[in-house]
Amino acid sequence: MTKRTLIAALAVSAVLSIPALAQRTAPPAPAPVDAKVAALRDAALKDDVAYDIVEGLTTEVGARLAGTEGEARARVWAVAKLKALGFKNVRAEPYRMPVWVRGEERAEIVAPFPQKLALTALGNSGATPAEGLTAEVVVFPTYGDLVAAPAGSLTGKIAYVGNTMAPTQDGSSYGAAGAARFVGPALAASKGAAAIVIRSIGTDTNRLPHAGNTNFPAGTTAIPAAALSAPDATLIEAMAKRGKPIRMKLLLTPRHIGEQESGNVIAEVPGSDPKAGIVLIGGHLDSWDLATGAIDDASGVAITAAAAKRILDSGKRPRRTIRVVWWGSEEVGGFGGRDYAAKHGSERHVVAAESDFGADRVWRFETTLPDSAKPVADRLASALAPLGIVRGTAQAGDGADIAPIVALGVAGVDLNQSGLRYFDTHHTADDTLDRVDPEQLRQNVAAWTAMLAIVANAPEEIGPVQRAQKP
Ligand code: ZN
Ligand code: ZN
Repeated sequence: MTKRTLIAALAVSAVLSIPALAQRTAPPAPAPVDAKVAALRDAALKDDVAYDIVEGLTTEVGARLAGTEGEARARVWAVAKLKALGFKNVRAEPYRMPVWVRGEERAEIVAPFPQKLALTALGNSGATPAEGLTAEVVVFPTYGDLVAAPAGSLTGKIAYVGNTMAPTQDGSSYGAAGAARFVGPALAASKGAAAIVIRSIGTDTNRLPHAGNTNFPAGTTAIPAAALSAPDATLIEAMAKRGKPIRMKLLLTPRHIGEQESGNVIAEVPGSDPKAGIVLIGGHLDSWDLATGAIDDASGVAITAAAAKRILDSGKRPRRTIRVVWWGSEEVGGFGGRDYAAKHGSERHVVAAESDFGADRVWRFETTLPDSAKPVADRLASALAPLGIVRGTAQAGDGADIAPIVALGVAGVDLNQSGLRYFDTHHTADDTLDRVDPEQLRQNVAAWTAMLAIVANAPEEIGPVQRAQKP
């Protein structure tokens, strides 16, 4: 027991008068923070590089839907930017993937109370006839109600599915509410629906629909599928309470344009010890097409690159190579993450970490590390605490783009951002630069800088890990 914990134990035991218990429960002394790590962390609280990247990408490129000309311009921009920042081995790695693009999208209630609706097609949505589709709406207040609908009961009808999503700091409400979008359209199609509209998966009450991908498994018809803004969803639910049949006219003309080029952009801070492995970090370069993707995920690519640049400019090579990847086509199915793993999975990655939850402050970190590297987590806890970041206990290695690498047994570190505002603008026309709070963005850079300084230089061996199966 150190002197500090002994004093703490005595202080607690004096209050509780149960010395034995107090000695057992006294927390261990925090790991000391390396002065160089602290200095890098604190300097990063003045970072301007991350904001410069978000501002540049959103201003000079804008929307960058996977596989489109916008994403191709983003790759060119990214390669130039990362070279200008001084990174090594900067290159784009193209691959091909099937591409869906939005068309016209309009909807209105034609009876009993004619009104126009604000909505947007979901990724992979089918198209209506060119003149539109008019049909009766069957209102399901929740996804569970759609599940309970008998087979064939939706034939020729438009399914409406409601959902509720409260803001949560850890974003956990997204998974629950998201079923209406992820699998609701395929389920409605299997029950005969001609089309489906859902309440947007979001936490705002703006008249802006939230885009996002859905999937139709092989053998399921890709029916027209769209998300209504929250106020328009509320309107339909209010009409349904009047008990009269609701008829909707829907026009959606998205289409698949075949295989196109997408790609990842890679940059490195070379390490001094090639045998020590790679620390893999990054975010996704593509965005949805309704806005400039400032929070999703220009911020993630910016935070990770800005932190890596601070290690690059620190005057001392890190022990391990830090590889920054700006993945392509995350939004539409994670093609970039899979292509990266196919091309680089045989290289020795030791830690993977992804930033894809906006730009608000990091409030918690989690690690999944091998036993040999447990002290690394203790040092992270000490270095991140002054930034207001607590230590979590769940498994780490979250993120669609690192998932194929994490699946190979690579250790993970998650720096969890607050999700309280994230789903207000997620995938909407409001995901623009003004949503990014420069001060919170800097706190992110500081957290990532401290994490990289510790993980990339850790003297411990960081071997593979075994994760418990997710439920
Ligand atoms: Zn994202
Ligand atoms: Zn997204």
